[in-house]
Formats: sequence, structure tokens, C-alpha cells
Amino acid sequence: MAAGEERQKLFHDIVEHLRGSCRSLTEAYAAFECEDLDNDEAFCDYLDSELFMCDDCGWWAEVGEGDGEKCEDCSDDEDED
Ligand SMILES: [Zn+2]
Repeated sequence: MAAGEERQKLFHDIVEHLRGSCRSLTEAYAAFECEDLDNDEAFCDYLDSELFMCDDCGWWAEVGEGDGEKCEDCSDDEDED
């Protein structure tokens, strides 16, 4: 496997690790032993294209769910108020 493909797979695995969880990025970096990704623009761009962290509950929601800053659950709560 080419180095670029391996890196792409690592990005994918980390995003899957975070998806639907409240894990912190720090935890994910530690789990994959890749703390250097914290400053990696390619990874940040990839993560931003897949998931966002809910402002309210810290849940990793799919891009396109909720209002872009809060997950579906948290943005629903606001509508009901
Ligand atoms: Zn939320």
C-alpha cells in the first residue's frame, strides 16, 4: 500500500473512531498514536468534511445533521423551547 493510501486509511479510521461518540480528538490521537495530526491540515480538512463536534454536548455529528454547530438532538431542543 502506498504511503498516501495508508495515511488516507488512518484518517478514515480516526473519523470512524470519533463518529457517533463523544471522544475527544486528544483521545483519538492517543488511540492511534498520531498526536502529530493535531496540526495536520489535510486531516483537519478531511475531518471537517465528515464530522463536526456539537457545541452543546460534544457529540461528533455527521456533517449535514443538525444546524452545523449543534447535533440534531441539541438543535431540536432549541426548536421546542
Ligand atoms: Zn449535541
